[in-house]
Amino acid sequence: MMSVSPRRAAANDSAGPADAAVVASRLRDLHIDARTELDHSDAFELLVATVLSAQTTDVRVNQVTPALFASWPDPAALAGADEGTVTEIVRPLGMGATRARRIIGLARGLVTDHGGEVPDDQKALEKLPGVGRKTAHVVRGAWFGHSLLAVDTHVGRLARRLGWTERTDPRGVEDDVVARVEADGSGSADEDLTILGLRLILHGRRVCTARSPHCGDCVLVDVCPSAGIA
Ligand code: SF4
Repeated sequence: MMSVSPRRAAANDSAGPADAAVVASRLRDLHIDARTELDHSDAFELLVATVLSAQTTDVRVNQVTPALFASWPDPAALAGADEGTVTEIVRPLGMGATRARRIIGLARGLVTDHGGEVPDDQKALEKLPGVGRKTAHVVRGAWFGHSLLAVDTHVGRLARRLGWTERTDPRGVEDDVVARVEADGSGSADEDLTILGLRLILHGRRVCTARSPHCGDCVLVDVCPSAGIA
């Protein structure tokens, strides 16, 4: 179990929102290895894997994408794929036919509207089948290097527990977290919202879990307004 140093204990002596710079700094030390956990080798693979990850886990997606990308390695190939064959490959994720239709439609959109390339453009990405704000942020943040928060269930839960927001809609959470980071800083000049989001996700998976957060083992226990009560 971690011990809390006097310096850390002094970081927050109220029940107000946790200081974003302190949170970012400690999560950086703890989750130094944070990166997207979806296996990919290019923007197309990351986009497809992220779309497939809806309502399932990254681990499961990583189990089906090697076969998927071996058969259809680029948008042009996947755009012409047989839907039934794709369905069989993605079936372990559940809703196989729906997922197959979605990623084939996505590939066709890339071919038709973007010359077979993944656009580094928020609005253009969000117009593609199956792609919403979060998915576009994942791709533009992790592949194209922008500072963008991708709000998933872990980020939303952490943000509420840390006192950064009371909202539950992803856009509201994003706006409140961005405002908090702008007010407090991100703990380091070269840190951005993309990496903060990835570290919040890891912390949500490993420590601040939905049903039984491990506050006694959490490096944020002295700055978190929900410590012991979440
Ligand atoms: S595990 Fe507990 S102390 Fe840590 S962030 Fe979650 S609620 Fe706060």
